[in-house]
Amino acid sequence: MEGKITCLQGDGIGPEVMASAKQVLCVIGEKYGHTFHLHDADFGGIAIDTHGEPLPEATLQACLSSDAILLGAVGGPKWDTLAVRPEAGLLGLRKALGLFANIRPVYVHPAVAHLSPLKEEIVQDVDFVVVRELTGGIYFSEPKERTSEHATDTLTYTREEITRIVQHAFELARTRRKKVTSIDKANVMESSKLWREVANEVGANYPDIVLEHLLVDAAAMELIRRPSRFDVVVTENLFGDILSDEASMIAGSLGLLPSASHSLEGPSLYEPIHGSAPDIAGENKANPLAMLYSVSMMLRHSFLLEEEANDVERAISAVLAAGYRTGDLRGEATTTLFTEKVVQELAGVK
Ligand code: ATP
Ligand code: MG
Repeated sequence: MEGKITCLQGDGIGPEVMASAKQVLCVIGEKYGHTFHLHDADFGGIAIDTHGEPLPEATLQACLSSDAILLGAVGGPKWDTLAVRPEAGLLGLRKALGLFANIRPVYVHPAVAHLSPLKEEIVQDVDFVVVRELTGGIYFSEPKERTSEHATDTLTYTREEITRIVQHAFELARTRRKKVTSIDKANVMESSKLWREVANEVGANYPDIVLEHLLVDAAAMELIRRPSRFDVVVTENLFGDILSDEASMIAGSLGLLPSASHSLEGPSLYEPIHGSAPDIAGENKANPLAMLYSVSMMLRHSFLLEEEANDVERAISAVLAAGYRTGDLRGEATTTLFTEKVVQELAGVK
């Protein structure tokens, strides 16, 4: 198999975790006989410094012509006071690629379950995915208005927008434990009433999948009370923004969690959920796991390389089981040492 991957390493710890991803892709390529063409492009703060804008045209074209995009992280204090910030590049890229589905798996690895802020017995067996609608809803709907005396935001969803994201969740549930939890506020919001109606209609086409509805306030509680009850969670943009951040705390470190963003056609974007972590940038302390799990999501979804994706996850588990941890997991391994161990595990070197 041959594939083109655009690598946007970005800022802060982005380059460090990207280096880790590239090493793992290289060994997977050798082991299974694939050629991954890795193409670097400037994005975020580094692109502001070198091109005067966070998403240069050449970067956008590289992304559009690739099979998948890997992103490190963008932003940092250096650019925080600028009129156009690195994060604007990310919004522009999502828009240009039509990335409407944001997927965030939350998995509590048994080896680090004791680092969760929740009790160990509560996080046992936590393995769910938040599917968040990313391009509609209150952040984008018009009118948006503000005077000194009143302010308005609008929350609009079309049947089409709801259908495609809910369908995405059902398709994902088919590959998992076959349960979808749709989250809304249908007791008070019109957009949520349509959401629930459409979810039921889509669900009727998936008799093999259990569909449950949960109000967003109840969902916020259930994520803490009994997170293992969830399999695939699907929700609109604002609720998903809040709930996915709440959910990310369950695992114990931001350094563990990957994400993917998909469009209807065209390349998907894979990135760790953490930011650029300026406090540890350049110190070889970053946990590369969120990035490596992003690589395994990419192998599985964009290249349909299930065995290779499982192999990456297996190697990570073996290295954790052998006791290697980065600082965020209260260990002493550096980014490069942890990566080296994963690479050795993949290559079968003992
Ligand atoms: P954003 O950049 O999205 O605004 P943020 O600034 O709130 O996010 P991060 O940059 O993710 O957050 O950093 C939050 C904290 O988590 C920091 O202390 C950072 O060092 C730590 N952290 C984030 N990612 C990692 C990682 N991969 N490995 C180790 N520590 C991390
Ligand atoms: Mg930050």
